[in-house]
Amino acid sequence: MKIEILSDEMASRIAAGEVVERPASVVKELIENSLDAGATEISIWIENSGSSLIRVTDNGEGMGPEDLVIAVERHATSKLREDEDLSRIATLGFRGEALPSIGSVSKMEVVSRPPTAPSGYRLRVDGGKKREISPIAASSGTTIGIKDMFFNTPARRKFLKSPATELSHVCDAVNRMALAYPAVHFRLQHDGRNVADYVAVRDAKDRLHQVLGRDVAKGLVPFRRSFGEITVQGFLSAAPTAFPNARYLYTFVNGRYVRDKVLTHAVLFGYETLLMKGQYPAVVLFIELPFSDVDVNVHPAKYEVRFRRQSDVHDAVSRAVREALRIEAKTPLPQGGISWVSPFSGVREAPLPYAGPGLANRYELFPTRTDVFAMPERAETVPGGFFSSMRIFGQILGCYLVCASSTGLALIDQHAAHERVAFEKLRRQLDLGKVERQSLLIPQAVELSAGEMMLLEQKVHVMEHFGFSLEPFGPGSYAITAVPALLPEGDYAQTVRQMIAELADVDTSAKMRQHLEDRLATIACHSVIRAHRKLEPHEMRALLEALDQIDFATQCPHGRPVLIEWSQADLDRLFKRLS
Ligand code: ADP
Ligand code: MG
Repeated sequence: MKIEILSDEMASRIAAGEVVERPASVVKELIENSLDAGATEISIWIENSGSSLIRVTDNGEGMGPEDLVIAVERHATSKLREDEDLSRIATLGFRGEALPSIGSVSKMEVVSRPPTAPSGYRLRVDGGKKREISPIAASSGTTIGIKDMFFNTPARRKFLKSPATELSHVCDAVNRMALAYPAVHFRLQHDGRNVADYVAVRDAKDRLHQVLGRDVAKGLVPFRRSFGEITVQGFLSAAPTAFPNARYLYTFVNGRYVRDKVLTHAVLFGYETLLMKGQYPAVVLFIELPFSDVDVNVHPAKYEVRFRRQSDVHDAVSRAVREALRIEAKTPLPQGGISWVSPFSGVREAPLPYAGPGLANRYELFPTRTDVFAMPERAETVPGGFFSSMRIFGQILGCYLVCASSTGLALIDQHAAHERVAFEKLRRQLDLGKVERQSLLIPQAVELSAGEMMLLEQKVHVMEHFGFSLEPFGPGSYAITAVPALLPEGDYAQTVRQMIAELADVDTSAKMRQHLEDRLATIACHSVIRAHRKLEPHEMRALLEALDQIDFATQCPHGRPVLIEWSQADLDRLFKRLS
């Protein structure tokens, strides 16, 4: 390795800004350096939530004395050379700013020894002042200690939050890195207590267990899709596992954790109607794409990136998510459709046979990351369809069908099921550009306020799209002359009025599809058999068969479950049978 100072010209092209905001940012930068140095073991020791001490030790390639003295200078980096490098950055760091920035606001000590060097060296920097360098006995690798952060900038020290908050930020920083590098052993200790000890694993799923905990991890299923040069893979929660915030939504681009609006939107877009409002999935998503297609030089802490082909990335992510969910929905194994309502959560833990070589370090990890995500074989789909092959025992409480499925006992919410079927039918028709409509022999009038009249005038074509025909009918009213064939006979005015109200915020074309789908859900909801209606046996059978014809059969368009299943194992557990 040879560390060099970037030319002024190059340095000026680097996104400037403060990288050291809080202890967690120091931890993040130091871990990035360790990973860039090829470390397979990284230990983080902090005291007082990092404000008194942060010490990161790695077994990476280390630095000789010449490199060591330059490393702490501004814009000193071994990772960037000529101009071109900036457009295809493969390392986590590249600006040569972390060590000098950290060194200027703390008392820093760097001890390093390359594996082949006879001795190590120690360099100290005090509030930005470089002290003497001296030989010292050291094991191979690098240890960087940061004492008394912000000791010389009390104003910034004041901005630190409570110790508990700062500690949780540190944990987050470690966890994100750990998720992306399962082959690296991460250890985090706080005030002498073990906070995390993630031994290296071959299987990315095992790392999920370590970092996210069993409960969340076991609800996640792997997926992988490639679209040209973009590969999207990772793990996601098949609804209805859902969380009240985006806490379990992790996105990584080429091994780098990022918080990106486009990616988050794409993920949620992929889930579409499977989540209720205000619900978030658990997703650990890795995107790999050519380094030259993503600009990481846009945010000081490198938390944001810019994609050269943003809409391709959005597309790839939402399609990958959607397809994974579709596959899951098609094989509704007892997959914890009950996990949020019952104490015996996470019914399924399918064996997930991941292939994958031991990933020694980052340099191996990038080209071979895909191996870690080898997909498990899908269970055979039931011949004749999952739903149609069920045995129906009958209807209870006026709204639930009780059935025996191939795996156990199943309850189906008939209203949610109908809604989902109607929704998918409408969606298909809408995609084909024509929604089946029925003309009304006697048009129905719908009285509207001045505001509604105006709205409807503007959106009447959208209503057409959905299968409604509306004609002006005197002042303050419209005549409904046709409605979607799917709607049962009744008072259509109410449906139309609701649609108008909801169409008020349809404007941008980007959101159009989402809005259309929301409206579809409205129509679907109006179209279905309400609860508390007795179903004839042939109607139940028809409903199950219809469920087999559609995607996402296990959720209603509002995200409520259609199906809840108990496998034999669940039942045994409920009856306290020992297996
Ligand atoms: P950058 O990571 O952007 O290059 P830094 O200021 O973080 O800049 O680090 C400067 C240089 O010091 C790096 O380019 C690298 O050569 C060296 N370095 C930093 N930390 C380590 C480490 N843990 N092991 C080996 N080399 C390191
Ligand atoms: Mg760095």
